[in-house]
Amino acid sequence: MTALPLVFDAPRRGMPPRHLADLTREEARAAVAELGQPAFRADQLARHFYRGVTDPALMTDVPADAREALREALLPGLLTVVRHQTADNGRTRKTLWRLHDGALVESVLMRYPGRATVCISSQAGCGMACPFCATGQQGLTRNLSAAEIIGQAVAAAAAMAAGEIDGGPGRLSNVVFMGMGEPLANYARVRKTLDALLTPAPHGLGLGQRSVTVSTVGLVPAIRRLTEEGRNVTLAVSLHAPDDELRNTLVPINTRWNVGEVIDAADAYARKTGRRYSIEYALIRDVNDQPFRADLLGKLLAGKLAHVNLIPLNPTPGSQWDASPLPAQREFVARLRAAGVATTVRDTRGQDIDGACGQLAAADSVSAPSLASPSAALPVPPVEPPTELGAEGDE
Ligand code: SAH
Repeated sequence: MTALPLVFDAPRRGMPPRHLADLTREEARAAVAELGQPAFRADQLARHFYRGVTDPALMTDVPADAREALREALLPGLLTVVRHQTADNGRTRKTLWRLHDGALVESVLMRYPGRATVCISSQAGCGMACPFCATGQQGLTRNLSAAEIIGQAVAAAAAMAAGEIDGGPGRLSNVVFMGMGEPLANYARVRKTLDALLTPAPHGLGLGQRSVTVSTVGLVPAIRRLTEEGRNVTLAVSLHAPDDELRNTLVPINTRWNVGEVIDAADAYARKTGRRYSIEYALIRDVNDQPFRADLLGKLLAGKLAHVNLIPLNPTPGSQWDASPLPAQREFVARLRAAGVATTVRDTRGQDIDGACGQLAAADSVSAPSLASPSAALPVPPVEPPTELGAEGDE
């Protein structure tokens, strides 16, 4: 494990051209007017965009001679599919996207009985340097624009609607920010994305607040800002250790905002929203899975509006770390529950396509000689039906 520096400020280079989804409705109307078109064309374009329509030929409510100029100015293609990979009998699909500057990111769409979740990326790479996470070891390339983040969710909604995922046409119901990147380090654009996800059609995807989860390493000022802004989405905190000594090494941002400060911020969020937050904890053999750490975690969270989501570690290439063995997992769960803390073990989808939590490292997958060894892996949603221990994969 190399110790990487923490990086907060993403390079400016590489940001994509402006897109309708980066703009407020008023800004979009003004941009359309600048092209000499009536302002309502902005609403028409929004309707097409959020339905996943990208081909100008299909925008039949817009005069044919205006389509190309409007598309160029407001709907530039930002995400190009490099490849799709499917797993879990066609119910999980990972997509590798190339951005306009060649940067690569991934998203994973997971279908379950009664719902479909997409796990999206908010940055190319990540600056948070967590040593067990493939993306964290890649470093930060750049922030994604709002439109690049929103586009991943729109593509998933369109794929569901078109019946591209096994099980017939359906609806995208959940979005989790558990792909590549630290969403709260790209706050303004993630905030815009939340608006787009929650705004009813045709100006957004019309998802419910509780169906959207923002996962963070614990950037306390940004958690506080989110608390004030009242978007009331589900908050997930990647804790991974109950004590500062260990967390300083597993989640290096802990040296800036420690366990106590992060939990205080999450508690304030829970008080404001009335919503339980989720604590993510990757169980790493002999590193953070000891019974005494389960007890410490239980003590830390007892009586709080919190839920623990244990994730058996998905080892990343070259890592000397491994997932906790089943008996250790069971003991950990039992101790947390004995402390009165709601606890589940996450069902990990897409492991055979490196589509599980923390394996995302898209840049490597393309420089690798073989396309057969793609390497992105997505964190599986915390709001996913957390599987009870002993019934794993029993979705
Ligand atoms: N930066 C954000 C979101 C991306 S990671 C965050 O850290 O919360 C999504 C989840 O996957 C986080 O809980 C992260 O800690 C977890 N994760 C990362 N690498 C993992 C690995 N190798 N095995 C299991 N979970 C991992």
